[in-house]
Amino acid sequence: MTDTLTHLLAVQDLDTSITQLQHRRAALAEASGLAAVEGELAGLEAERSEAAARRAALAATQNDLEEQIGGISERRTSMEQRLYAATSSSGRDLQAMSDEVRHLTDRRAELEELELAAMLDQDRVDAELAALRERMAPLEARADELRAQVADDELEIDAELAAAVASRAAEAGRVPAALLDRYELLRARLRGTGAARLIKNHCDGCHLELSSVEVEKIRALPPGEVATCEQCGRILVPV
Ligand SMILES: [Zn+2]
Repeated sequence: MTDTLTHLLAVQDLDTSITQLQHRRAALAEASGLAAVEGELAGLEAERSEAAARRAALAATQNDLEEQIGGISERRTSMEQRLYAATSSSGRDLQAMSDEVRHLTDRRAELEELELAAMLDQDRVDAELAALRERMAPLEARADELRAQVADDELEIDAELAAAVASRAAEAGRVPAALLDRYELLRARLRGTGAARLIKNHCDGCHLELSSVEVEKIRALPPGEVATCEQCGRILVPV
């Protein structure tokens, strides 16, 4: 095996390591269980926000009812004042005013019942919200732990990646540009492996067996000649 091909295999091995590290980094959230915890939290958060919206609507209803009740109370007070002051009014007017006071009293009682119902509903939603918070708290704590762990693992992988990328650049610098270009093209086309080892009579790129004639031919090639796997087309390096 010529030096050039040794360096090419080193580039290939480093590229494989870099790809594996990148995959491992991307899968950390899933692998650590963080993704599952975050998924569960997202479900609870959706429930929480739906309950919070219901509570806000009930509070708005209560506010609205309170305003209506306030308006009715004012109208009733002024009607009662007119009624008490109305010494000279006719019996019909007095009757109409007293009917109005009764009507306003009834209406206020109705609205107060609705207000009470809205308040009781809010209490129920508050209990729901408290239960949801209780379920979410330990999950949030767990998610924080896992995020910290994932961040640590990312740092570790990033350091490994930086080292691998630097070594790769150094190794690639020792491979002639034309061969490196050919390798890159093959690698892009053949699922990340552009250069394979010939181990006994197997190509470790496609794992197929080569004919003994072909193997003989490759092993007899003069140094500097680059062989190609006739099955997969990868650069084949006898080892
Ligand atoms: Zn092959």
